[in-house]
Amino acid sequence: MTGGIPRTVAEELDAADPLAEFRKRFVISDPELIYLDGNSLGRLPADTPDLLRAVVEEGWGGGLVRSWERWIDWGARLGDRLAEHVLGARPGEVVVSDSTSVNLYKLAGAALGAAPGRGTVLIDAEDFPTNRYVMQGLADQRGLRLRRLPSDLDGGLDLDVLRSALDEDVALVVLSLVSYRSGALVDMARVNELARSVGTRVLWDLSHAAGVVPVDLAADGADLAVGCTYKYLNGGPGSPAFLYVRRALQSRLRQPVWGWFGQREQFRMGPDYDPVPGIERFLVSTPPLLSLAAIEPALALVEEAGVARIRAKGLRLGRLADDLADAWLTPLGFRAASPRPPERRGAHLSLRHPDAWRICRALAADAKVVCDYRVPDRLRIGPSPLYTRFTEVWDALSRIREVAAEGTYVSRPADLARVT
Ligand SMILES: *Cc1c(COP(=O)(O)O)cnc(C)c1O
Repeated sequence: MTGGIPRTVAEELDAADPLAEFRKRFVISDPELIYLDGNSLGRLPADTPDLLRAVVEEGWGGGLVRSWERWIDWGARLGDRLAEHVLGARPGEVVVSDSTSVNLYKLAGAALGAAPGRGTVLIDAEDFPTNRYVMQGLADQRGLRLRRLPSDLDGGLDLDVLRSALDEDVALVVLSLVSYRSGALVDMARVNELARSVGTRVLWDLSHAAGVVPVDLAADGADLAVGCTYKYLNGGPGSPAFLYVRRALQSRLRQPVWGWFGQREQFRMGPDYDPVPGIERFLVSTPPLLSLAAIEPALALVEEAGVARIRAKGLRLGRLADDLADAWLTPLGFRAASPRPPERRGAHLSLRHPDAWRICRALAADAKVVCDYRVPDRLRIGPSPLYTRFTEVWDALSRIREVAAEGTYVSRPADLARVT
């Protein structure tokens, strides 16, 4: 009962996978567990615990406050590595700090401050909630109009909708490169060009793209971007985020949180805020050093594999998932809820089912498949290419089919949990 696609197809894809060895570089404590949620929290790299132990024992325990001599630049150093290997930016254009929400606030505030006389902010009505809320708050504080562009839950934002909303009153556009729910991928170069034609800027959220989709901020003419490091970059729960500001813009923008880490000659403790001209003017405060340190071994794996190869495998994983979903899950009431082919999305995909929430719970409890649920009725599947095998995708879809066909998930509570 395996439909048209035998497991040997997945086995052959694994055998031919140039990235197969990377799985061994992660901690896999339960080999039976199929983890398809690396787009929410990436797996733990095998080198991370020892590195953190050294930072704690030698850096903190031994070096104490003297270790800040070395630590003080880590956010900028990691930023440069992200710029080079993941984001297609230049040295001095990326820094790691704070969270994605806070970086979004800082860069959006800076961009709005530099667009006086313009009264409208555009956002995708289906964008990730924190982005919508942060922009709602900023628009409210500044007396601007927040226009939520209607977009298709599965297909993403239609560029014609964006084009017709763009005019000389738009102060800023906030968009995710990859939709958190459907995975829909936006054409960054085209959007930047459209925005530039009316003299406005785009603030990109790269959370679901960084480390899994090739991003070329410089070539695509991007001005501003933020994103997470704990998803496909595997930096660990709550690891600090990154922010990017095109170099030519940096000294013209002033972010709203005036912290001492952005200050010239920080330790002169001068009376007035006078930020450095470069990317570090977007810093605020003492970095969470342990979380920052955990990004380094994780990023090393992405650098070694290369985003182009990670993307190539992600596309193959996506194609296999699409084919299996069509063969096995469509007859059971599931519908594809992501763009196709996989080239039109990031590395995750969603399936729609009226009982998606209870199926998701049953999969985790009874079938050892961890994926996630997204409102209103989506089962979201995120096979992170660095450590996910093709056979895992095959087995997971087969287990989803079993759970859905048996129907025992109906005994699970319909109420949503605190965390989905
Ligand atoms: C995951 C995610 C975030 C997370 O923001 P935090 O500040 O880290 O909680 C923000 N934006 C998008 C698009 C995301 O996918």
